[in-house]
Amino acid sequence: MSGPQIAVIGLGATGSAALYQLARRNVRAIGIERFDLGHAFGSSHGPTRIIRLAHFENAAYGPLMRRAYALWRELEKAAATRLIVTAGIAEIGPADGELIRGTLAGASRYNLPHEVTDAASLMRRYPGFKLPESFLAVLAPDGGYIAAAAALNANIRLALTAGATIRTNETVISVEPLPKGVRIKTNRDEIEADGAVVAAGPWLHRLLPELHLPLHVTRQVVGWFEPDHAAQFAAERFPVFILETPHGHHYGFPAYGEMGVKIAKHHHRREIVDADCYDRTVSAADEAAIRAPLAEYLPAANGRLLGAETCLYTMTPDETFIIDPMPGFPHVIIASPCCGHGFKFSPVVGEIVADLITRGACEHDIRQFRLQRFA
Ligand SMILES: Cc1cc2nc3c(=O)[nH]c(=O)nc-3n(C[C@H](O)[C@H](O)[C@H](O)COP(=O)(O)OP(=O)(O)OC[C@H]3O[C@@H](n4cnc5c(N)ncnc54)[C@H](O)[C@@H]3O)c2cc1C
Repeated sequence: MSGPQIAVIGLGATGSAALYQLARRNVRAIGIERFDLGHAFGSSHGPTRIIRLAHFENAAYGPLMRRAYALWRELEKAAATRLIVTAGIAEIGPADGELIRGTLAGASRYNLPHEVTDAASLMRRYPGFKLPESFLAVLAPDGGYIAAAAALNANIRLALTAGATIRTNETVISVEPLPKGVRIKTNRDEIEADGAVVAAGPWLHRLLPELHLPLHVTRQVVGWFEPDHAAQFAAERFPVFILETPHGHHYGFPAYGEMGVKIAKHHHRREIVDADCYDRTVSAADEAAIRAPLAEYLPAANGRLLGAETCLYTMTPDETFIIDPMPGFPHVIIASPCCGHGFKFSPVVGEIVADLITRGACEHDIRQFRLQRFA
């Protein structure tokens, strides 16, 4: 391969998608990851992530998500593996709550397929839920889940097949953009590349201290609960859901593989932590935060805690992504789609950064993701 050499720093969901998209474009793509691939210290590990077209968090995501779905399907085809299961999502809460209002705003802005139903019909369809009469649900047929670990593997495998190289257990210590390239120092080596994608997730602001990125990292916990009636929560019978109650926004998945019903609280306890040293044990207070709505709203899932794990959100002040070149250096792109909802966007973010690096432009309006908004 004779194209430019582009380094991708960090191989979580974002970096692995970027690596594949670059490797497909006749670029000598080199991925550098400080841990093993698929490690559990950042944001991308675990079996599943939600995928949905409409976002209560940001109505403007519609076109990006449409493209992301198309790329997920392409990735499935190229990898010959099923990566997304779209058996529907139910977003449930008070009619005037943030979740229902925001989801409907996103769905109607881009005419995304959805159905609004009352609590009684939702409970008839999915007897696992016990909801107050005043609740509504927005059902979207395209919603579902991503097989997250398989997705990461697929990107990595296809990137390697397309000619990328990968260096694991190697930590990038500094990224120095040059007028026509970039100098990357690691704990083992110094690399001069033609460009770079910095996809370091919760470590991003540490790696680029000169940018004073206003990021904070929060500790999250997800749990798997043993259901009373396992059949009610089987993947083909129970939807992925997001539930707004006085306990906050909880989300969950049907029982997947050998595990129980996966449930978590969006933002969990909003604990700001240092990504290098945070508590990865799961406490009684963690379990209580996740379990809080179950007795009242999902009593049949309120069983034994079968397992739990921690994870990290990287948060911006406006809770949306960063996808932008470093100021003055169009060949060094920062890509951080997190804020708790970025996994599903990873293929399209990979495509955007690969286009920005190879063509200096992309097909999407990414103005809302610019660094300048923090100035
Ligand atoms: C509990 C939880 C639930 C979530 N649920 C959903 C969901 O349902 N749907 C959804 O779409 N999204 C969800 N998200 C968000 C999604 O998982 C993240 O947006 C996504 O994983 C971010 O990926 P990333 O590659 O940007 O970051 P990361 O996965 O953290 O990857 C960054 C990588 O960079 C590496 N790295 C960092 N510094 C260096 C360095 N100096 N040198 C070399 N390598 C370095 C790290 O080791 C890491 O592998 C959830 C997140 C969490 C934590």
